[in-house]
Amino acid sequence: MERKISIEQTLCRGCNLCVEMCPKKVFEDGEEISPEGFKLKKVANPTKCTGCKLCELFCPGAINLKIEEKETPSYSPRLRLGRGGPPEARLARGGWRETKNPLTPGKYFWQGNKAVVEAALACGCRFFAGYPITPANEILEEMAKRMKVVDGVMVQAEDEIAAISMILGASWAGLKAITATSGPGFALMQENLSLADMTETPCVVVDVQRAGPSTGQPTRPGAMDMREVRYGSHGAIQRIVLYPESVQELYDLTIKAFNLSERFRTPVILLSDAYLAHLSESVEIKEKIDAFDRIYIPGEPPFGPTPDFSTPSMPRFGDGEFLSITGSTHDKLGARSTADSGIQEELISHLQNKIIKQKEELVDCEELFLNDAKIVVVAFGTVGRSAKWAVREARKRGKKVGFLRPRIVYPFPADKIKELSGKVRKFVVPEMNQGQMFYVVREKISREVVSLPQPNGQIIDPRRILKYLLGEGW
Ligand code: SF4
Ligand code: SF4
Repeated sequence: MERKISIEQTLCRGCNLCVEMCPKKVFEDGEEISPEGFKLKKVANPTKCTGCKLCELFCPGAINLKIEEKETPSYSPRLRLGRGGPPEARLARGGWRETKNPLTPGKYFWQGNKAVVEAALACGCRFFAGYPITPANEILEEMAKRMKVVDGVMVQAEDEIAAISMILGASWAGLKAITATSGPGFALMQENLSLADMTETPCVVVDVQRAGPSTGQPTRPGAMDMREVRYGSHGAIQRIVLYPESVQELYDLTIKAFNLSERFRTPVILLSDAYLAHLSESVEIKEKIDAFDRIYIPGEPPFGPTPDFSTPSMPRFGDGEFLSITGSTHDKLGARSTADSGIQEELISHLQNKIIKQKEELVDCEELFLNDAKIVVVAFGTVGRSAKWAVREARKRGKKVGFLRPRIVYPFPADKIKELSGKVRKFVVPEMNQGQMFYVVREKISREVVSLPQPNGQIIDPRRILKYLLGEGW
């Protein structure tokens, strides 16, 4: 590729955005001052340009960037595939790889929704489809800007049903794909989430929760989809669901969501909420990240069951495999079998066990003061921030209180709760809903479990939890 960069000096406003945004330090202050008094910039290091187009995106109109492709690549993220696919498609691929972050390492000050976008791009996501909905809108808006820069695709779909259908198609075309919505939109996606389960299609769905039900209070936070994300789809499904508590964790867990989705060939739900989505915090970006790409072994059956409940090989359209993808019960080659009870049972067992058998690996909890705790506060996502403060304050006042926050909400860390139940007197579950995870905790153990519900569209005030822990009621 040949890159030519120039600055039209009469249009330069001296805003310095090119200097700040270019990761390769291509631009510098020039010597000239414009008649309007702007400090003009110059192209100081053109050979360092990688063609990322960030300068062109941010410059109000002075930069001319021409990128000429000398050769037509046989394969690009936009999948310009010929019949039977490119020669490299015949090779096995996938697994863990260390990849360079496209952003300069360091600290960034981002909103939660922005962190989701940057993390998705960093681990190789190149397809987004979504339908606008508060409080997830900034993800769609950012994707519209950023996908252009990385040669990815962003589609504003006609509704949420279309959006999830598109990401499933993109995933089978070989791309890491994501959509973002909120509770009502998530409800519309349930049928195709089942399709993703049945067809073992990796994808990430972000549910930025708000106070419901229905259209409820779109700008107010809630944790009202905690059971919908696990139990909303029909059929016998397992679900991997993550819920971060900070903007840094939103970034890190977005990457984790993609890795789990690719490893287990399953849709992964990343929960957020109206508070976290619009909270701005600093995020530390490392130079390298570990990314997992779905494994493809030419000629291997593309569906389960597999020996040892492992994840099957996943070809993409254009690889030259005979590929039949159906939501109906199918054998491991994808052939429909809608009346054979043996095939149905084997398939369901495979879909369940490829996740359940790895459940130890799917435990990711923040734990505080559990050694001597008599009461354990179990909190999820944003509420964890309030609960953690309250637990620390209660301990300063001599209360033997502990804290448990599962970052991976489902599969629910039942063994962890059971182990603790042998040592503690009771569990307390504060939630921004009417008590949804309370039931999940309670069904695992015979200890006392107390629900602290707050479904009023507000963040739970940490002092309210503290008062409860000090015996002053809820
Ligand atoms: S971003 Fe564009 S307008 Fe701003 S200083 Fe650079 S060249 Fe000039
Ligand atoms: S395309 Fe990217 S690397 Fe090249 S000058 Fe613009 S910002 Fe810098």
